[in-house]
Amino acid sequence: MRTVGHFIGGREVEGSSGRYGDVYEPMTGEVKAKVALATRDEVRAAVENALEAQPAWAATNPQRRARVFMKFIELLHRDYDALAELLAREHGKTVPDAKGDIQRGLEVCEFVLGIAHLQKGEYTEGAGPGIDMYSMRQPLGVVAGITPFNFPAMIPMWKFAPAIACGNAFILKPSERDPGVPMRLAELMIEAGLPAGILNVVNGDKEAVDAILEDPDIKAVGFVGSSDIAHYVYSRAAATGKRAQCFGGAKNHMIIMPDADMDQTVDALVGAGYGSAGERCMAVSVAVPVGKGTADRLMEKLVPRVESLKVGPSTDPSADFGPMVTRAHLEKVKKYVDIGVQEGAKLVVDGRNFSLQGYENGFYMGGCLFDDVTPDMRIYKEEIFGPVLSVVRAKDYEEGLRLANDHQYGNGVAIFTRDGDAARDFAAKVQVGMVGINVPIPVPLAYHTFGGWKRSGFGDLNQHGPHAILFYTKTKTVTARWPSGVKEGAEFVIPTMQ
Ligand code: NAD
Repeated sequence: MRTVGHFIGGREVEGSSGRYGDVYEPMTGEVKAKVALATRDEVRAAVENALEAQPAWAATNPQRRARVFMKFIELLHRDYDALAELLAREHGKTVPDAKGDIQRGLEVCEFVLGIAHLQKGEYTEGAGPGIDMYSMRQPLGVVAGITPFNFPAMIPMWKFAPAIACGNAFILKPSERDPGVPMRLAELMIEAGLPAGILNVVNGDKEAVDAILEDPDIKAVGFVGSSDIAHYVYSRAAATGKRAQCFGGAKNHMIIMPDADMDQTVDALVGAGYGSAGERCMAVSVAVPVGKGTADRLMEKLVPRVESLKVGPSTDPSADFGPMVTRAHLEKVKKYVDIGVQEGAKLVVDGRNFSLQGYENGFYMGGCLFDDVTPDMRIYKEEIFGPVLSVVRAKDYEEGLRLANDHQYGNGVAIFTRDGDAARDFAAKVQVGMVGINVPIPVPLAYHTFGGWKRSGFGDLNQHGPHAILFYTKTKTVTARWPSGVKEGAEFVIPTMQ
């Protein structure tokens, strides 16, 4: 049995807590590895190691820091297939989808190749008589990222690439459910030339998270996961004076207008609803057809597509989606389907009893589709995070908009229409952070920023893009006066530039 330790000081070290978590291969249901769960002392050791390494890294010129990422990107391309296979086997998503997981992280590494430009400060010559003013963006020191199971390559890279490029040292606490790829990424960063101690990985659970939150030398925490934990991390981080950005769960709506191209809409909907077994924070989990005619046309085309979804092992490239991450999560999702039936929603496609021949112990379920879901139901209000799509019928556009606006989550949303006016109105009024117009999963590219609203995101800056540079640096502004005015005597009035 493989054991996964921690990555501290440029190499893997064994865990000393004696506590381990199981790492499954969801497609077979077998335990393939044991991951060490860190103690507070192990987290502290990682922080001390990072503290020692960080000043020299911050003093390294930004082009050199960028070159480490240039090399890292090259190594990711070299190891793409092996990383995707490891990712798929630990997470459950298919290998082609795992490649997308790596790619969307890699693109953030490409973005930070411009760190010399991105981190440049501002300068005003002659802000007053003989006065120049300039600002610098300096790294915070040691910062941390706590990441979820569902994108074990992308989200760690979203966090550590900008932080490290800015001159910080980074402590990564990845999900204990699929730690293999984050550990490989740390090894590759060292191979790419990163000094030891600038990227340390501590594996663990709540104990490690609490140790991070209480550590006085960690200056910022980036979190991604479920909303209750996001809120917990946000409030604890604030209480100990840390900068925090904490992204949570989602319930992403797709509003389908009467004029939408129904074939295109259904294609988009099945991919966005069931891809990665619905375990994406940007998955569409609620379809909102506007008007009865639209709803009937939608169901006519959607039902056969959901019935014929191909569920397969992660290594089958022709599968639409693979197993769920753990048996516990599979049972939780099936329970939600039971709840939906009890609440009176119409279960049009039932994937609960799906079993895959030859993989009977894997964590599989088929796609489920509910019609006639109403906003008071738990299956509408709560995040299910599985291959379960709810259809909520709206009588008009205003009702569809209101549904998205009134929901507790505000991560992603989409509208499918041919009407530019409706799309424009929707984009302006919807209370959600990321909006797709005829695009089902509107994940912004690396040079824009990613973040949800309401209970999908706590904190005021988004992930990656220019916001990440702001989050992982602090501004210092210098006001300098050199000429003779210095000798003119004391000033007791607040300086102004009148
Ligand atoms: P999770 O909240 O269970 O775990 C996230 C992280 O928090 C993990 O590292 C985990 O070890 C840690 N953690 C778990 N319980 C904890 C506790 N009680 N105290 C302290 N730390 C704890 O989330 P998950 O199941 O790994 O991931 C799925 C969730 O993440 C979904 O809700 C999904 O919507 C969300 N997600 C959000 C985004 C986004 O950008 N908004 C992106 C991806 C996933």
